[in-house]
Amino acid sequence: MTGGLAIETSALAKRFGAVEAVAGIDLAVPTGSVFGFLGPNGAGKTTTIRMLVGLIRPTSGSAAVLGNPVRPGGVDLASIGAVVERPAFYPYLSAAANLRLFAALQGVGGSGADRRIADALDRTGLGPAANRKVGGFSTGMRQRLALALAMLHRPRLVILDEPTNGLDPGGVVEVRATITELARTGTTVFLSSHVLSEVEQLCDLVAVLARGRVVASGAPAELLDGPGLLRVGFDSAAEAETARRLLTDDGMAVTPAGADDAALSVGVAASDGSRIARRLAAAGLFPAELTPVRQSLEAVFLELTRDAAPQASGDGTSASASREAARSGGETADPDDRDATPSGNWPR
Ligand code: ATP
Repeated sequence: MTGGLAIETSALAKRFGAVEAVAGIDLAVPTGSVFGFLGPNGAGKTTTIRMLVGLIRPTSGSAAVLGNPVRPGGVDLASIGAVVERPAFYPYLSAAANLRLFAALQGVGGSGADRRIADALDRTGLGPAANRKVGGFSTGMRQRLALALAMLHRPRLVILDEPTNGLDPGGVVEVRATITELARTGTTVFLSSHVLSEVEQLCDLVAVLARGRVVASGAPAELLDGPGLLRVGFDSAAEAETARRLLTDDGMAVTPAGADDAALSVGVAASDGSRIARRLAAAGLFPAELTPVRQSLEAVFLELTRDAAPQASGDGTSASASREAARSGGETADPDDRDATPSGNWPR
């Protein structure tokens, strides 16, 4: 990370009729970081991103991207690359020809454009497919072409909404490699995801969103650093039972460790291991095993977002489905939103 904030929001909020999609969030995305915006369906990730790139207007609060306040239509597209909705390309044109069109829209032509196109296609692993028609591309290849488009003008910040959604495992690996490559060259990457392992693998920092609110933020390792579990194993079930009574009397949460009746799970921080070992030793009990059980980000995520069912309409409708309904005239549609037409980096 190189200092300063690439994205900063203050009490940023968006309401669609009765739905509070984003309920006043403060984000601070350091320059040069890969920042994961994690949350279940309907948490408000896409709505936040659409505000950040100026596609829709916040109901209240503010956002600054690369130091400039965001206003609808006033975003400095020269410094940002974004893949917000799945872009449409001309199917009968090659990947390179599609990019050439968009480069021309950005005012870049000639050999300068050719160099950038070759570079963007190489960095997304599409070099060998440069001259193939996009109509024959797989979903993963189209998504990588969208990334190539987003990085065509060598932006300092790339914003990606669920970049691996709908991809097969091969496509996921390729898109992740592209993101890692972007980060390596100093580009700030802000990506939304509900795939926990993705965020854990790719991101330096994470904000977890639930019901439009940030419920946790920090490095993935920090989020995992809550109260943990220690597995304490003994040579016999009798010893484990004596230890269970002793530790329970000391106020610790102790449960059997799965099917093994000679092992216990003790709910304490990993750093409490030596305290437990001393306590047991003082009672003449010597555990054969004392192992911190790493919490999975999955468990932490579920715990943090437990009460955050999608707020769509209470009928299980996904956020995207209810968005579609809204777009086609539903009551909660925001006229502001309906009029917002992606431009610049968002081919239709
Ligand atoms: P997903 O992962 O399912 O895409 P998300 O975290 O991106 O979810 P959003 O798409 O931002 O969530 O939706 C947040 C809430 O706002 C949802 O309840 C959704 O139905 C609602 N919403 C989003 N856009 C609109 C709209 N244009 N009109 C009405 N409601 C909307």
